[in-house]
Amino acid sequence: MIKLFKGMKKYKFQVVLVFVFTFMKVLAELMLPTLMADIVNIGIRNEDIAFIMKTGVVMLGIALAGTGSDILKAYLSARVSMSFVTDLRRKLFTKVQSLSPGEFDETGTSSLITRTTNDVTQIQNLSIMGLRMMIRAPLMAIGGVIMAVSKNPGLSTLILTVVLVLAALIGIVASITIPLFKKMQTKVDNLNRVLRERLTGIRVIRAFNRTAYERDRFTEANGDLTDNALKVNRIMASMFPMIILLMNFTTIAIVWRGAGSIDVGILEIGDMMAFIQYATMILFALVMMTMMFTMIPRASASAVRINEILDMETAITDPDDAKTPDEKRGLLEFRNVCFKYEGAEENALENISFKAMPGEVTGIIGSTGSGKSTLINMIPRFFDPCDGSIFVDGTDIREMTQRDLRNRIGLVPQKAVLFTGSVRDNIIFGDKTIDEDRLMVSAAVSQSEEFIDTLSDGYNFQISQGGTNLSGGQKQRLSIARALAGRKEIYIFDDSFSALDFKTDAALRRALKKDTEDSTVIIVTQRVNTIMDADNIIVLEKGRLAGMGKHRELMKDNQVYRDIVLSQMSEEESA
Ligand code: ADP
Ligand code: MG
Repeated sequence: MIKLFKGMKKYKFQVVLVFVFTFMKVLAELMLPTLMADIVNIGIRNEDIAFIMKTGVVMLGIALAGTGSDILKAYLSARVSMSFVTDLRRKLFTKVQSLSPGEFDETGTSSLITRTTNDVTQIQNLSIMGLRMMIRAPLMAIGGVIMAVSKNPGLSTLILTVVLVLAALIGIVASITIPLFKKMQTKVDNLNRVLRERLTGIRVIRAFNRTAYERDRFTEANGDLTDNALKVNRIMASMFPMIILLMNFTTIAIVWRGAGSIDVGILEIGDMMAFIQYATMILFALVMMTMMFTMIPRASASAVRINEILDMETAITDPDDAKTPDEKRGLLEFRNVCFKYEGAEENALENISFKAMPGEVTGIIGSTGSGKSTLINMIPRFFDPCDGSIFVDGTDIREMTQRDLRNRIGLVPQKAVLFTGSVRDNIIFGDKTIDEDRLMVSAAVSQSEEFIDTLSDGYNFQISQGGTNLSGGQKQRLSIARALAGRKEIYIFDDSFSALDFKTDAALRRALKKDTEDSTVIIVTQRVNTIMDADNIIVLEKGRLAGMGKHRELMKDNQVYRDIVLSQMSEEESA
């Protein structure tokens, strides 16, 4: 946690100011009872009215100065903690953005969200409370003791007793609540996970009639959190009346013992009143410190979770002296590439070598799980190979910046992802400067035009979160348009025609051919139809290269390919 708070260094000056203002406020609070005592003592003897007036004015001045410092302190400490926490959130977000998909999956989306929101809020609460109280409480306690003892050493033993009682009380309460506070954070995480799964899977849950089961699961997680929170709050709530009771008893005890001293003339009434106020201040300061300490375990649990993210090392980084290929053609080459997923037993890709030429269509075919998407995801460096290299225009992609590399690639992922916003925003997603002509062409080529025209607002039609107001095929076509709009050297279509009917599929590929004439086009599919006339077909089986060549050649001498083809069409159709 200390490591996290190092981020506060930036606000050193403001923190120092907070300390100074706190000091002034405490000083004012400590001076007031003594001045009041003077007034009472003199007033009772009805002596010096002028002195009373003068002291009154001084008290007023001190009170005003104290309040002023308090306001400034509150303002500054809120500002410092908010800026500190904003920095922290930004750092977290940047980190999360830099993680590779594999590293991303390791932590899980809902946990990443909880960490950036809820956990950061815990840190924020502690930093505000810390700035407000950490200095104030000890200063008040120590100052209170000094002033009380100077007023009357005899009564001070009484304060000592009360402090010990209070410390014991706080100790008991803390030992019960701290573990409960610690548990709270994992319970919140749990609740978020259940809620998220439930919301994202709502259709499936309904379809399988699991609503009641899922509701119970949520109720359980929710109840669990509630129980915990109730327990903590009950204890904390009962603590305050006890402390007030203790304060009142202290006052009674002081008056009781003080009365005797006043009788024999060794204590003045004003001093006794001041003494009561100092005693209250000391107890109050102790309570403030306790509150701080109950927050620390909860915040430190959060700090650990935040640091886990900040400390993650991204495997995929830019080289120090990045190279840029001399040409911009889009020649892609895999040379003996291997890949293994984290924690997997076998390699997902084994010794893959091939070239994809500019101006040609390269088809990749294979059954589900044969490694097609894995292979595709290595081209924009979502993953790095464990062995072998990938070259674009003769340069190893690990020697290029990720930005440069990805600028050359138009990727249509297997699962179409659209963003909230208009159809237009989604198509020009990669580059806001894409002009209207190109927008129209990419819409036409991707066969999106026909359905965009039927939408109520055309290109301004608002897509809802996750693209739920479009069909699967419409989403796929828009994500194809998005990839085309940027005019790239390499286009990758990962099973992107699967949700299209055969007619649209054929029309799209015909239009695509014209539009991507000089580019390297890679089409991944399970449908033979889609790649039959490709310039080169790569056959994948269980992560290995099972064959490569044109349709006719492969039909003649590649059993894996023949099997795939004949499972989808007759011998005559495939000729
Ligand atoms: P395809 O796209 O050809 O259907 P994939 O490339 O998605 O196949 O998957 C290839 C293999 O890698 C499969 O056996 C799959 O189980 C495994 N795999 C895919 N993604 C992951 C992942 N994130 N972690 C571990 N294994 C994975
Ligand atoms: Mg796939």
